Amino acid sequence: MENGAGGAIGVVPPDAATEAVTVEHPHEERNHDASLTRAPAGEIDAMRKLQHELERRTRALERIEARFRDVIERNADAIVVVDGQGLIRFANDRAIALFGGTRAVLIGKPFGFPLVKDETTELDLLTDGAPRVAEMRVVESEWEGRTAYIASLRDVTERKRAEQGARDLIREQAARTAAEASAKRFRFLSESGSALTSSLNYHATLAALARVCVTGFADWAEVYAVEADGAVRRLETAHCEPARAPLVGALRGAAIPPKGSHPVLAVIRTRTPMLASRLSPELRASMIVDEGHERTVTELGMTSLIVIPMIARDRVLGAIALFSSDPRRRFNAEDLALAEDVGARAALAVDNALLYEEARRANQTKADFLAVVSHDLRTPLNAVMGYAELLAMGIPEPLPEAARERLQRIRTAAGHLLYLLDELLGFARLEAGREEVHPREVDVREVVREMEAVIEPLAASAGLAFQVDVPAAPVRVRTDPDKLRQILVNLGANAVKYTPRGEVRVVLREQAANRVIIRVSDTGIGIAPEHLDDIFEPFWQVNAGQRSANGGTGLGLSVVRGLVRLIGGEVSVESQPGNGSTFTVAIGGLLSSSRPEERTAP
Ligand code: ADP
Repeated sequence: MENGAGGAIGVVPPDAATEAVTVEHPHEERNHDASLTRAPAGEIDAMRKLQHELERRTRALERIEARFRDVIERNADAIVVVDGQGLIRFANDRAIALFGGTRAVLIGKPFGFPLVKDETTELDLLTDGAPRVAEMRVVESEWEGRTAYIASLRDVTERKRAEQGARDLIREQAARTAAEASAKRFRFLSESGSALTSSLNYHATLAALARVCVTGFADWAEVYAVEADGAVRRLETAHCEPARAPLVGALRGAAIPPKGSHPVLAVIRTRTPMLASRLSPELRASMIVDEGHERTVTELGMTSLIVIPMIARDRVLGAIALFSSDPRRRFNAEDLALAEDVGARAALAVDNALLYEEARRANQTKADFLAVVSHDLRTPLNAVMGYAELLAMGIPEPLPEAARERLQRIRTAAGHLLYLLDELLGFARLEAGREEVHPREVDVREVVREMEAVIEPLAASAGLAFQVDVPAAPVRVRTDPDKLRQILVNLGANAVKYTPRGEVRVVLREQAANRVIIRVSDTGIGIAPEHLDDIFEPFWQVNAGQRSANGGTGLGLSVVRGLVRLIGGEVSVESQPGNGSTFTVAIGGLLSSSRPEERTAP
């Protein structure tokens, strides 16, 4: 059926083809046609000519038709003829390959796709289980004398796949670029975060900020601060090329003329960031202060600008100006967003530095106050104690017994007051950084004995045993003996204070690595694990009630820690509630480590 149909697609109607074929066959019989022989010679000639012409045309038509069939069959496209009822009337080999199955299965089947004339539509096919895509163009024609549609389909699966691949690649590349940009941004922000928090010093923070801005972001940067009187000063600058650091360095310290239209002033006033991708001549001019500045800026290059305010706790602390000198690198909205992030972090860091500075100043004032007060209180107290001593000695004359007892109370209370003042004074001196170290060669055993002289009577009056365990040979160390004694006396006094019964023990040992350790242990109330770190903090006590009970200040251990650090040592504690405490002081500077701990008798 398809063979016969093949010859007739839309060009030669099937009837005409049949006609043409029938015309061909009578050709051999024409001499036997009696009517022809009877016709006049002229007519016969004309008829022959006509017949020849007819034959010639028929052959031409057949050739065209054969060529056409051939063309359709070998067409690179799949061709399907669909009749008015939507049934497939013809399909070439390509179409069969495209749709899968056989011609017999295909012919007579509904085509199933909408036929849109003169438009290219895309069909999704499933050929032998594999998805394929075809582009289809449809023309209206005739088939076996009736209206039909010729659909030519082109398999574009590979092209589509390639296109999709290219699209995926582009998407992938875009995603990679975006990922790289965000990784860079993240790196930049995290680096800037750690750089900005590396110091609590105000100027160091501003310098770090300027440096951060020129690592992979701006070519050069300026950091401005709003000063107490409202003046805006350029305090820090940085350039990405170290060779240019002196050039930008020369810009430091200058204040912006308050009346000008400098963009930094505008940003500080409006609290709004500014982006000038392309620096206009007017904007540039508004930033130039004088000829020298003009020369520097020309040499540095200024093509693109971002200015961001630094705002913390609703106060504008300053602004950051970021410059690009490269005409190809113009800042954009993304850069502005990044700069704003840095600005927010910078504001926090700068605010912290300012707060720290303020706190440090306040602390210094407090320490100065404590030092002055405790020192000034000591002088009259010395007079009180001195005269009390004289009275106790019977000068100018012996006191009656009742008065002596009261005098003793005065002396005890004055002694306690002196102890408190000494603690305060020691703490204040440490806090104010006024404590000086005077190292010299000492035998630590002597320092321990000095401590024993102070603590042993305290322990005895508290009903505690007091043991001192030192090596037989000298333990020579280069250290500050006064500081070390103060440390040991504080620890010993605490041991006595917090031990209701049992003993206080001091052990001195040499250790490897030129170190000496002194352990002060007691059998007292101990310290809960959660408090072990707190006890070294100033004014910290396990419970507030102790303050009055023990007459302590909560400063002893903080002074111990400060002094130990000052002489380059360490202090640690081991304790269990109810099972006593052991404080260990380790100091370096051992001059001859002839007796390591293992060889020393306990
Ligand atoms: P305080 O003047 O209160 O003794 P310290 O700074 O010397 O201040 O000690 C802080 C706190 O640590 C004390 O209040 C006490 O609770 C605890 N503490 C210190 N030494 C000991 C110890 N040997 N045994 C138990 N608790 C101690």
